[in-house]
Amino acid sequence: MYISLGETQKVCDEYEIFDAHCDTVQYFTGEKGSYDFLRENKQAHIDLPRLKTGGVKAQIFALFIEPCFKPEGALKRCLYLLDAYYRTVKRCPEDLITVYNYLDLLKVSKTEKIAAFLFVEGGEALEGDLGLLHDLYLLGVRGLGLTWNEENQLAGGAMGGPDSIGLKSFGREVVREMNKLGMMIDLAHISPQGFWDVLKITNTPVIVSHANTAALCNHPRNLTDEQMKALRENKGVLGLSFYPPFIDHEKADLNRLLDHFEHAAGIMGVEHIGIGSDFDGIDIVLEELPDVSFLPRLIVGLQGRGFKKEEIRKILFENFFGIVQESGTGGGNEVY
Ligand SMILES: [Zn+2]
Repeated sequence: MYISLGETQKVCDEYEIFDAHCDTVQYFTGEKGSYDFLRENKQAHIDLPRLKTGGVKAQIFALFIEPCFKPEGALKRCLYLLDAYYRTVKRCPEDLITVYNYLDLLKVSKTEKIAAFLFVEGGEALEGDLGLLHDLYLLGVRGLGLTWNEENQLAGGAMGGPDSIGLKSFGREVVREMNKLGMMIDLAHISPQGFWDVLKITNTPVIVSHANTAALCNHPRNLTDEQMKALRENKGVLGLSFYPPFIDHEKADLNRLLDHFEHAAGIMGVEHIGIGSDFDGIDIVLEELPDVSFLPRLIVGLQGRGFKKEEIRKILFENFFGIVQESGTGGGNEVY
C-alpha cells in the first residue's frame, strides 16, 4: 500500500498525529554514532525533519533505562538521558516545545510546532524512593511506565510469565502519588496482575502506550480483550505499536496492523485507541512503516478500512490529547 507524495501531503494537511511512545532520546546522547535530531538520519526512525514529514504534532519521548543500568544506576542513567534531551531540543525552539501540562499542549497545538512530553520507561529510576518521583516531576517528567519487561520495586513485568507478581506496596504508593501530581500512568510492559491492580486503585485514566491485541497476536506484551474492556471502563487509551512481533508471528505488515486497529476499535470503541509507534525502541520495522515519515500510509490505511474522518482524528490525535487533560496533567499541581 504505497502512496504518492501528493497524497501524503493531502492527509498530512487533514490530520494531526499524537505518538504516545518513542525511544529516540537514546540517540541524543551521541552513544549510537553520529546522529543529529535537526537533520535526517539514516540509523534512527525519528528526527525533526521526518516528524514534520510524518505529520506528528505531539510526541511522547520516553527515557528508556536499559537493563544494564538496573537496578543500581537507573536514576543516574535517567538523568543523563534527561540532560541529553534538554540539550538537544534547546537547539530547535522554533520547531519543538516541551510541554508540561494540558494548557501548554493546547497552546502549542494551535501553532505549527511539535509538542513534546517527557516520560520515563521503567520505575527503577525511582530507586524505591517516592521523593525521587517528585524530583523527576520537577525536572519536567510527566509520565512513567511503571515497569519494563522485568519485575522491579513497583510491580512485575509483562515478560515475567503468567504468574508474575502484581503491584507491590511501593508501586501502590507511586500510583497514588502520580494521581495526585497529575502524571500519566503507562501500563505498557506491566504484568497482567499489575495491570489489574493499578486499574483497581487509580482515580485517573491510564494509558498503555505501546502494545497490540492478544486476540490477533498472542504475545505477553499484548492486551487481551478483557484487559481492553477494563481499559475502556477506566477511560484509558491503548497506543497500538508498529513492532512486527506484536503484530503477527508470521506475516506482520501494515494490513495486519490495521486488523489490530479494527479489532481494538471493535472491543473498546474508537475513543480508546491511538498510536504508540515505539520507533527507535524496536530493532525491526514494518516494511511499509520504516520510519516516522511514512505515517501518512497508516492514515490512508485507516481510511481504506472505512474509519470515518472524525474517528481517524480521534485515533490519531484527540484520544491521547484527552488523556493529558483527564489524567490531571492540567498544571497547578503542587508537588510540596
Ligand atoms: Zn517499551
